[in-house]
Amino acid sequence: MAYRIPLSYNPIDVDSFAKVLSSYEGVHHNQMVTDFENAIANLTSMPHAVAVNSGTAAIHLALLSLGIGAGDVVIAPTFTYVATINPILYVGAKPVLIDAERETWNMDPDLLAASIKSLKQKGIKPKAIIIVHTYGMPASVNEILNLAKAEGIPIIEDAAESLGAKYDGKLTGTIGDVGIYSFNNNKAITTFGGGILITRNPETAEKARYYASQARENLPFYEHINVGYNYLISPLNAAMGLSQIQQLGDKNKSRCNVFKEYADVLKGSADFQKDSEKQISSRWLSTFLVKDSSTKELIINQFNTNGIETRPLWKPMHVQPLYVNCEAFVKGVSEDYFKRGFALPSSFHSLQHQQEVIHVLTNSLKMVT
Ligand SMILES: *Cc1c(COP(=O)(O)O)cnc(C)c1O
Repeated sequence: MAYRIPLSYNPIDVDSFAKVLSSYEGVHHNQMVTDFENAIANLTSMPHAVAVNSGTAAIHLALLSLGIGAGDVVIAPTFTYVATINPILYVGAKPVLIDAERETWNMDPDLLAASIKSLKQKGIKPKAIIIVHTYGMPASVNEILNLAKAEGIPIIEDAAESLGAKYDGKLTGTIGDVGIYSFNNNKAITTFGGGILITRNPETAEKARYYASQARENLPFYEHINVGYNYLISPLNAAMGLSQIQQLGDKNKSRCNVFKEYADVLKGSADFQKDSEKQISSRWLSTFLVKDSSTKELIINQFNTNGIETRPLWKPMHVQPLYVNCEAFVKGVSEDYFKRGFALPSSFHSLQHQQEVIHVLTNSLKMVT
């Protein structure tokens, strides 16, 4: 079903895109890729960036460049989009899933500690911890980093949804050993599909680039020792990224304003991820929890009737048929949030659309008993 008002509209500034393209007339097209990588490296103050054709590919490359393979264990949150977890299977490793904490909806550090301890008792050391800042809200990074450091486990930061969000003044994606962003159509900025891997470690970046370009050995002829992938971004997508990156601040500000307006309307009727002194969400999606699943259904039905797109929150990975047999450390939080939560349109084509959505929301709240 096509919705009149979509969940996450990403305005395309055609003039700016055209300007970027025309500035590369007569220049080798790969320069657009290099410049986009440099632009993200500058934005994030990271020395290395490898631009690829999806965020999922960037996570796959992060695992490969950390040397993770068959039989290894990787710890990850259960309350996330499937693209966080699937790359663990691509490399033949085993996901161990951790429930969300109530405040941030992200990986619960206490359950993470319990999982590390339990694995240790079985003689297993996890090869990486993937953290996600879901819907733009930073996870409890310090608590997680302390646990990871104590055990010498690298952190992969899946910041696909949180470009611009900050933890303790630091941009999400720049805190772990490897970070990734997604530039899918509905993310904070888009390249019409794409992603990037960022890191401070030159060897990690080099390995990521190697695996992303068919694992070709550095020799004067085509020599192959490992299986590689065709993951590099196309120059046209990179050009789009160069145009969009200029608008990141405005785009994020607009999403934050939309969120605030909903939060006012929903005051007393809904809960949400709260900013803290350290954690500032970029509000990629405006997401809320109401008191029970029937209230959620009522509100979503009202939006459906009006041709307005909403989405349920993530169905946790540990209850997905694909992942139901994975080891999981859970206490009911993500399952509860899946029942009671939903996402509302978080960026708009026009102010009129925005007002219409607020109107429908206000009316549907009046129907709640
Ligand atoms: C969007 C997303 C990805 C994957 O990004 P793609 O560019 O769509 O491949 C990975 N993880 C999370 C949490 C996401 O939301």
